[in-house]
Amino acid sequence: MWVSAILAAGGRGGRMGAAVPKQMLMIAGRPILQRSFDTLASLDRVSEIIVALPGELAADPPSFLATNARVKVVDGGATRHASVAKAFALLDGRRTERVLIHDAARPLATAGLFERMIDASRKTSDAIAAMRAVDTVKQGGAAASDSQFPVIDRTLPRESIYLAQTPQIFSYDHLARAIALGRKSPEATDEATLVEQAGFPVSLVEGEPNNIKITTEQDLRVAETLLSKNGAVATHPVSLPRIGVGYDLHRLEKGRRLLLGGVEIPHPTGPIGHSDADVLCHALTDAILGAAALGDIGRHFPDTDSRWKDADSLRLLSSAAGIVRAAGFVIVNLDAVVIAELPRLSPHIDNIRLTLARALGVDVGVVSIKGKTNEGVDALGRNEAIAVHAVALLTAAPERPSA
Ligand code: MG
Repeated sequence: MWVSAILAAGGRGGRMGAAVPKQMLMIAGRPILQRSFDTLASLDRVSEIIVALPGELAADPPSFLATNARVKVVDGGATRHASVAKAFALLDGRRTERVLIHDAARPLATAGLFERMIDASRKTSDAIAAMRAVDTVKQGGAAASDSQFPVIDRTLPRESIYLAQTPQIFSYDHLARAIALGRKSPEATDEATLVEQAGFPVSLVEGEPNNIKITTEQDLRVAETLLSKNGAVATHPVSLPRIGVGYDLHRLEKGRRLLLGGVEIPHPTGPIGHSDADVLCHALTDAILGAAALGDIGRHFPDTDSRWKDADSLRLLSSAAGIVRAAGFVIVNLDAVVIAELPRLSPHIDNIRLTLARALGVDVGVVSIKGKTNEGVDALGRNEAIAVHAVALLTAAPERPSA
């Protein structure tokens, strides 16, 4: 049985309020998307995996996707259904018998659950993972006129109530019908709803209590707690440090301001650039983002975007620190070499370190800046340009105390 998988990760994660896409937020040292993907990729019975990502991630997919031959990446649509439809369009209907669909936002689903879904679909063709309701279920109606609290319309028989999860699995032909139907009812929150509407019976397979959907910051904490209880954290090298490198060079011109690490240094020439051309801030920003494998300064603050024209590079550096923090990292230390024939930097070094430390929200003791000349060699030595090499070391943020 040829099984193709669709990993739906196209959502924007608006409820999380983080600077990075929700899919790339860390749970115990690994992004949500990678956890979901790794489980799916561990299944020999899945022949190909189509991953629907938001535009910016699809344009520059994380390396764990880009290096897997079984994987295709697709730019997802505006809705979940549109994303699944675009991924489905890449499947070969003459070959694919079953399509397994999973939400990347459920990174705790186990390989065992996926296996059970594939087994079930040999007999029933269409099935979803679901949990029996344990709480008594009430249907709420309108609020009484003098209160904001909805009033119970009726109590539903709990024995027949199931809460839907993913993975969900369908025959290729049934899903094709459902996707055609979904163009007319885009409000459906899962594919099973559409397969039901298309008239095919969908079976319920017992899901997993830990298979929670991550939509809020609180869910992230719950997921980390569940992982640590299962011992998954202990076996994953979460505490391994991450290193990043950054480099930048700007040409010097008469009459421009020379800003280094947010500090203005009196000098007859200064660097040319779209922003304030703070070459030290630029190299450090790339080092920090690089250590987290979250792209570079050009991806987060493109110079084609008028918002960043004359941008305060110290503020961009500060934003980059916020981005890696949101992804679960802390900055351990930074080190940079500024290569400039002139001016002499030593009188300014401490001021630069303090300014950078404040912008980054770190102790000044972890920020090191060194000046170097190029011994008169090349453009740097002829004072035509200024260059910076920087490194940053990050580590996973210590586990938050569980609620
Ligand atoms: Mg630059």
